[in-house]
Amino acid sequence: MTRRVGLIGKPLRRRHSQVMHDAAFAATGIDARYELLELGPDAVEAAVRDARGPDWLGLQVTAPYKRLVAGLCDEVEADAATIGAVNSVAKAADDRLLGFNTDAPGFAAAVELAMGRSLADAAVVVAGAGGAAHAVVFTCLRAGARLVTIGNRTLASASELAERFTRVGGGAISVVSLGDPAFGAALRSADLAVNATTVGMLAPGMTIDVDALRPGATVFDLVYVPPETPLLAAARARGLRAANGSEMLIAQAAIAFERWTGVAGVTEVMRAAVAPLLADAAAQA
Ligand code: NAP
Repeated sequence: MTRRVGLIGKPLRRRHSQVMHDAAFAATGIDARYELLELGPDAVEAAVRDARGPDWLGLQVTAPYKRLVAGLCDEVEADAATIGAVNSVAKAADDRLLGFNTDAPGFAAAVELAMGRSLADAAVVVAGAGGAAHAVVFTCLRAGARLVTIGNRTLASASELAERFTRVGGGAISVVSLGDPAFGAALRSADLAVNATTVGMLAPGMTIDVDALRPGATVFDLVYVPPETPLLAAARARGLRAANGSEMLIAQAAIAFERWTGVAGVTEVMRAAVAPLLADAAAQA
């Protein structure tokens, strides 16, 4: 029996996850495939119910269904519950569906590689307060960041995010509007500046003034399409350490794969499989 994993979302613009997981299934000799399930809201509940069947290993979930699917799982892991987003689901031996989050550990793996140091005691500035920013802020606090400043276009969303994470403990959290001079002030003493908005991908421009950053700071842009956003180009032009979201994407995929199959060590296979897609101008639209 060919086993199945499905990505639920609408619209589904990218094939990156499918390419990585199918390559890993092939390389490990697991008879399974990764399907793209672009579904309307009325079809999501039935799809999750189907995933309890014997052919299913699990699911991945993207916008706009992360909250909806979390509510359809039998159990949500503590970290995913704290973050407020389930982006992956695994089926337990008793067919119970367990929701978890791979963005947080994926970001943790990628960002310390980009920084060349640990997040412990770091001053971090995060632009954005959406689903991805939740995983980023959670990871920074959990890893011992000294201060996390959240800047968002909509201040109320940043305040809600900060409120959610006061219970995580660790460093201090500060909240500002993106255009506020206090955001620029936070950048001046930051060790790490993260773009967790869709700016650079869906919207033009950049959220972070790289001229405000110290020479030792790192810029991490979660966007991976296009591979070099204006933010990353500006950071590199200033000689700063800079990385896009591709390593986070690959790391989170490998984590989900291990949860579904019990097989670790597929990161290199996934990286090689997705490389042409990440570099393909035609896939950047
Ligand atoms: P989301 O929940 O829709 O949040 C979008 C965020 O972008 C919000 O903070 C929103 O601000 C902000 N934003 C949108 N347009 C803006 C503009 N014109 N100016 C300023 N801010 C703007 O999206 P998400 O799921 O968090 O994803 C955010 C980004 O991370 C996307 O580019 C996604 O591809 C990327 N991502 C990458 C990975 C990876 O593995 N590399 C994983 C997850 C996400 P408001 O609150 O004011 O609307």
